[in-house]
This record gives sequence, C-alpha cells and structure tokens, in this order.
Amino acid sequence: KIQTKEDVLEAVTEYDVKFIRTQFTDTLGMIKSWAIPSENLEDAFNDGVMFDGSSIEGFTRIEESDMMLMPDPTTFNILPWRPSEGAVARIIGDVKLPDGTPFEGDPRYILKRAIQQAKDMGFTMNVGPELEFFLFKLDENGNATTEMTDYGGYFDFAPLDRAQDVRREIDYALEHMGFKLEASHHEVAPSQHEIDFRFGDVLTTADNVVTFKYVVKSIAYHKGYYATFMPKPIFGENGSGMHANQSLMTEDGKNAFYDPNAENGLSDNARYYIGGLLDHISEFTAITNPVVNSYKRLVPGYEAPIYITWSDSNRSSLIRIPATRGMGTRVELRNPDPSCNPYLAFAVMLEAGLDGIRNKIEPGESLRMNIFELSEQEREEMGIESLPGNLKEATDKMKTSNFVRNALGDHVFENYLAAKTAEWDNYKARVHQWELDTYLSIL
Ligand code: GLU
Ligand code: MG
Ligand code: MG
Repeated sequence: KIQTKEDVLEAVTEYDVKFIRTQFTDTLGMIKSWAIPSENLEDAFNDGVMFDGSSIEGFTRIEESDMMLMPDPTTFNILPWRPSEGAVARIIGDVKLPDGTPFEGDPRYILKRAIQQAKDMGFTMNVGPELEFFLFKLDENGNATTEMTDYGGYFDFAPLDRAQDVRREIDYALEHMGFKLEASHHEVAPSQHEIDFRFGDVLTTADNVVTFKYVVKSIAYHKGYYATFMPKPIFGENGSGMHANQSLMTEDGKNAFYDPNAENGLSDNARYYIGGLLDHISEFTAITNPVVNSYKRLVPGYEAPIYITWSDSNRSSLIRIPATRGMGTRVELRNPDPSCNPYLAFAVMLEAGLDGIRNKIEPGESLRMNIFELSEQEREEMGIESLPGNLKEATDKMKTSNFVRNALGDHVFENYLAAKTAEWDNYKARVHQWELDTYLSIL
C-alpha cells in the first residue's frame, strides 16, 4: 500500500508512469485535473503545484486567485485504461493558499475539519456508499442520449447482454485500481446498475466516490456507452441514489453503534447519531441532493425516501438500520444521490451525527410500517415531516441553518448557496415540455 512520497516515486518508476493527473474537486464536486510529467512529481510533493483558482466554481475570490495543490501520496493510483508503457496515474491533493494554509473553499478540507471534530470526541467515521447509475446509448456524434441499453430488472442475469459486459469491464477496471467490490448488479430500472465497493474511512471513501464516477464514465465511454449519475433521468422509472452506510469507530477499534445489551443492539450513540441526522436533514438536503433533478427522484413509488423517519426494518424510511450487528452495525441514510459532492455530503452527515451525540438528540420511535401506505392525515397525526420538495425549498432551509454554516464554513456556505440559487432561478424561468403538453392545446 502506497503511503509516502517515496512509495509513490518508486511506483512511478516501477510502472513506468509518464504523467500524473493531479486532482481536486470544486464546490459542486466537479473534478478539476491537470497532468504533470512524472519528472515534476518530486517538486510537486515538496512545493505543491501552483494554479489559478479564480476560474474554479466556488473558489472565486480575486485576492486568492493564486493557489496551490499539495498532492496526497496515499491517493496515488494508476488509471486502468491506458497502455502499460507510459502509464497515467492520478493523485488527489489538498488546496492551499500560497503561504501553505488550507483553503477554506476546498471541499476536502471541509471534510477533514469534520473528521477532526469526530476525532476530538474519540471517533472515526466509516462510510460505505451504494452508487447507482444508468448506462445509455451514445448518438452518432458521441453525445449522451437517454436511449436504453437493456430492459433488464433487479438482479437479472442476461449472459448475452452487452450492457452487462460493460458493467463487467467497469468492475475489472475498479478492481485493478484497488477497489474491493462488494456487489455489482442490475438495478430495478431498465439500463440501471449498481456497484458497491467496500466501506472505508470517510476521507478515503469520498476520494473513492469521485474516482469511481470518473472510472465508470470513462470505461462506459470507451465501450461506446454513456454512464450517468443524474438522479432521475427517466420519468416513471426508479432514480439513482447513493445510499450512505455510516458508522463510528471508537479509538480502541470497536463499533460505537453496537451495544449487545441494548434491546435492538443499537448503542445510545447510534440512537443519538440517528437523532442528529433526522434533526438536521432538511437543512442539508441541498448538499446531499444538490440539483434541480434530485427532487424528481424523491417522490412516492420509486424506493426513494420522502418522509423524515427511521426504521430498523423498513426500506421506506429515510434511515434504515441494516440487520447486521457487531462490527457491521451501521446507519443507512437513503436520500443522498450520486450528483452530490461526496466531501461536503459526508461532512454534513458526520457533523449532524456528532451534533446528535453531543446534544443527546433522541430520534423517536423506529417506524415499523410502510410510510407510503399511511394517509396524509395519519402522517400528520404522527408528526411525520417530509424532506424539502425541490431545490428552492432545500436552499431556503439551508440559508437559515447555523448548523450547515458551521459545518461548511462561511466561504463554501455562501458560494454554494449563490450557485444553487442561480441554478434554481435559471430552471424556474423556463417553459418545460410538460407545460406545453398540458396547457397548449386547452388554453
Ligand atoms: N434506486 C432507489 C433510489 O432511488 C434505491 C433502490 C435500492 O433500494 O437500492 O434510492
Ligand atoms: Mg440499489
Ligand atoms: Mg441500500
């Protein structure tokens, strides 16, 4: 396992790596990357790589336009789709100001801050994400379409299916890069797939989510397909989620969510963590479900959550507790979708859970029934609230949240809200096909 800059330099020679793609993400989770020749790598480790931050989304502050990326040697990984002579590797870095202090607009730094908070309380966080995506056809110009590549369903096995071959290629590429795959299967919707990789510490997992999306898209494209993590590409079919399985470990390596003496095996900390998530979820939905389209997924009937409840059995809840206990005890948060910035999303989840633990926030009763079978009145009587219904509602909630402001810091908080408000305003003013279909012929 590569840990130090010496390990990286050795691997570069051993695998004949010619170029290194240095990477970070902007506030919205887009990868920013540029290649440096491997001869320059040692200097990059020592002095960082300078770049102009003023053209990066969410980094805009003229006085901070000169920035520096410090590569993190533990993230070194050889990209799988290049020939082995003259290989290309990627390395993720931390964004710093020229004087070496961390840039407060760097999502990776925001997550590292949350990790420090956890550490101060004696915890480390593990996350196992479940990313779903669609494989669509490309048109003759190589552009994305929403044309299906198969009509399979959940766990269908279709040996002659080319889309399944593509998924297998993606699996190989990921394994080649050191991902430990737990499951790879067709999902419920036609042309929809899911690949789960093994959980890990939250920082590594956030790095992995970014890389995962990039590998899936690249391999699909090389095979003549378009992979999309858009949350709801097709009306009337399931959307794509990114369930986040999360747990806290104590300093002596125990699962802090497990208590063999508790009735349901869940510790007080697990309960409070759930309480914190439920308490803050609406304030940070704009982070976990960041695009206009995210809210087309969060509607009844498609296995996506709407109501703010938790359950130790039922999948219709926002939070589900998978049956495993002992070291595998975890909380599955089901609303996030794969269009989110994983650094920011994991940071707010962790901070929410920690807030729950600090303030001993009780999550209330676990809901054993299917919430979607309750009437609106029954839900009201039980005091069950809903997630924000669209991006506007979500940003309105976020705007007034001191919790999210503290978790993200002023810089990201302000920039993120500005970007999302502009996105909503742009969407809101447009005339959509549905309006034409519904109104044109009658009005
Ligand atoms: N695709 C569903 C969603 O939008 C999740 C299906 C599942 O339970 O894996 O969250
Ligand atoms: Mg799934
Ligand atoms: Mg799941």
